[in-house]
Amino acid sequence: MKTTDYIEKSENNILHTYNRYQIVLEKGEGVYLYDVEGRKYLDFAAGIAVNCLGYHHPTYTKALQEQVEKLTHISNLYYNIPMMEAGEKVLKASGMDKVFFTNSGAEAIEGALKAAKKYAFCQNGHAGCSVIAMNHSFHGRTVGALSVTGNAHYREPFEPLMGGVKFAEFNNLDSVKSLIDDSVCAIITETIQGEGGVYPASQEFLEGLRLLCDENDILLIFDEIQCGMGRTGDYFAWQGHGVKPDIMTCAKALGGGVPVGAFVLGAKAAANSLAPGDHGTTYGGNPLACAAVSAVLDIYKEEQIVAHVRELTPYLEKRLDELIQEYPCVKTRRGKGFLQGLVIEGRPVAEVINRALENGLLVISAGSDVLRLAPPLIIERQHIDEMMEKLKASLD
Ligand SMILES: *Cc1c(COP(=O)(O)O)cnc(C)c1O
Repeated sequence: MKTTDYIEKSENNILHTYNRYQIVLEKGEGVYLYDVEGRKYLDFAAGIAVNCLGYHHPTYTKALQEQVEKLTHISNLYYNIPMMEAGEKVLKASGMDKVFFTNSGAEAIEGALKAAKKYAFCQNGHAGCSVIAMNHSFHGRTVGALSVTGNAHYREPFEPLMGGVKFAEFNNLDSVKSLIDDSVCAIITETIQGEGGVYPASQEFLEGLRLLCDENDILLIFDEIQCGMGRTGDYFAWQGHGVKPDIMTCAKALGGGVPVGAFVLGAKAAANSLAPGDHGTTYGGNPLACAAVSAVLDIYKEEQIVAHVRELTPYLEKRLDELIQEYPCVKTRRGKGFLQGLVIEGRPVAEVINRALENGLLVISAGSDVLRLAPPLIIERQHIDEMMEKLKASLD
């Protein structure tokens, strides 16, 4: 079959909730993907910041193969070894206290919200608390996660959603302060807004949120689903600011491509929130997903992935900044580490992305006018140079 046949067949069967790029990807090797026509793409999208180790990483592949041979699922009624190991490694990387594994990012957000609500319930014995979230945030598509997503266009058709959500301005501490009252149980924010347009939180904002939460005994939730797992040059982006959340959500790169998420709690939240019977999942933390998490974190350590991101970031940033000088349509660059956004003006971002695709480069958008780069964390200088060549050809 050809590309058009695959696409037609897919559209016949799969609910049309995505306007997909017109390629059918079949396999990957390193930082390259191949479509069914044999065309090769340099991947600076990584399945939306997921494929941290690229494709067909030997150690990762072997770990998954070995786990498939043993066991893929048992439910949470029993203990399994990969979950124990993955939990240990996530807590070591984050310096937090307890972890609950989920199947996706949105589900990690749901768990974080429930933990925060239960924390408040344990304090004062009544429900009905509210949550402060940020404008232009993105936390996922399930009802709870959508409720705290600061994009009215995503929310509107599905209202009424979870009640008691108030939106503040990202990076504006006063706007958060003005929403604080006795009903608030948590503040939730991405450490770097991803989908909203690659906006890093300021040091001052994060420190201010921490203080505000401590003063009011409410929980601070950092959504690290996109910016976490080494992407910024720290295991988690908040570590680069020295501002620790009470609950962190993680997903995307956590499993290196196997669907898995987690919400991770600090000691205070862990000891005073969800108890047996409060929360559950059939698949969450299953041996296959946890073997993936475990392998990813082992490889990070073995191959010094986080240090590699930190070392290569100045070069990536320097090369991207050339575009601002050379192309009037490239206005600014925002981001941290291997999560970078270029603000494009005067022409649609989608057009640049489609031209990049034709030139064998995968990049994605964020917000309405941002070209987003979220490559696998294993890229080398030569891949940055190749990306620049292809991106320039697409901007010409
Ligand atoms: C992708 C993303 C989510 C949602 O994760 P899913 O796995 O798609 O449910 C939540 N928050 C952030 C910051 C994300 O980037």
